[in-house]
Amino acid sequence: MKNIMVNRLDRGFYKYQSEFENKALEVLRSGWYILGKEVSAFEAEFADYIGTKYCVGVASGLDALWIAFRILGISKGDEVIVQGNTYIASVMGITINGATPVFVEPDEYFNIDASKIEEKITERTKAILVVHLYGQASNMKPVVDLCKKYNLRLVEDCAQSHGAKFDGQTTGSFGDIGCFSFYPSKNLGAFGDGGAIVTNDEELNNDARVFRNYGSEKRYYNRVVGTNSRLDEMQAGLLRVRLSHMQELEEEKRNISNRYLDELQSSSIILPRIREGATHIWHQFVIRVQRRQQLIDYLLEKGIGTMIHYPIPPHLSEAYRCLHIPKGSLPITESYAESVLSIPLYNGMTAEEQNYVIDVINRWR
Ligand SMILES: *Cc1c(COP(=O)(O)O)cnc(C)c1O
Repeated sequence: MKNIMVNRLDRGFYKYQSEFENKALEVLRSGWYILGKEVSAFEAEFADYIGTKYCVGVASGLDALWIAFRILGISKGDEVIVQGNTYIASVMGITINGATPVFVEPDEYFNIDASKIEEKITERTKAILVVHLYGQASNMKPVVDLCKKYNLRLVEDCAQSHGAKFDGQTTGSFGDIGCFSFYPSKNLGAFGDGGAIVTNDEELNNDARVFRNYGSEKRYYNRVVGTNSRLDEMQAGLLRVRLSHMQELEEEKRNISNRYLDELQSSSIILPRIREGATHIWHQFVIRVQRRQQLIDYLLEKGIGTMIHYPIPPHLSEAYRCLHIPKGSLPITESYAESVLSIPLYNGMTAEEQNYVIDVINRWR
């Protein structure tokens, strides 16, 4: 029987096995493991890739988010607008600082519905957090305009959108700060945890750099109460290897996704769509299906794995009962949580595996 998992991280490793192994040995033998030349080189290369002046490596995507809001001075009493159907880390990045998330419904592309933002702006609103969910760039023009009009900070959660563009501009470079995760399953994945903050603002760059390292600019001189959130040399070195192949990796996933878009034809599923002006880097290929559990069981029986991103929206999560947002408050968000399904998609997925997934889904009634 076939066994096609929803993701295969080993395939991504074997694609460039010798390069990864050589880099790992180089770092091990260097005798320097935290904040060294690999991190500096990765920061320069990643800033260049995104098109920002600065990049600061941190320990995870969540750290990138909460440190971003911290250095922007967003805290208790402040509101941050974010889409309802995001991964819960986006919301934690806000609430760790004591600020309040204000949820907006998503559009048909799974990203924030920009036409529903303005009605949520109050005198407490300090920022908009845009999440480029599943790898597709959000509709940035109206968001940027609203931030200007109301003097709001703009933060982007790019944990799923490395290299995705809107109107030719790379996500992460639109606002004050772009936040990235290099969790192994992300499009630019490390072999452990990692994250980064990108910005064009020199002061924010300095603040992030100081904050990630105990608030220390000079050893044993601490300017602020910071944290320990550093990308390590091993992850930075391995990320540099992966980053050098990003174009090929992105193309491979795009080709598989285009096959799905062209060849999947079950009338019971809704395929993802791409907004005009946006690019999609296909972190996930997410379909919508009413009889979801039936499809999951059918695929499992045929040896095909799936995942739900995400079954419980943050406002209905036990962790956020304190927000007192009842079920039914965000009907589109909630209907997505009940109908979305991610099907297998990964670098190194063979044509035979793709054929099998397409064939099996097309035979579902
Ligand atoms: C993965 C992810 C994060 C968190 O990244 P970590 O590196 O796991 O902390 C934040 N936001 C979104 C949208 C994500 O997908």
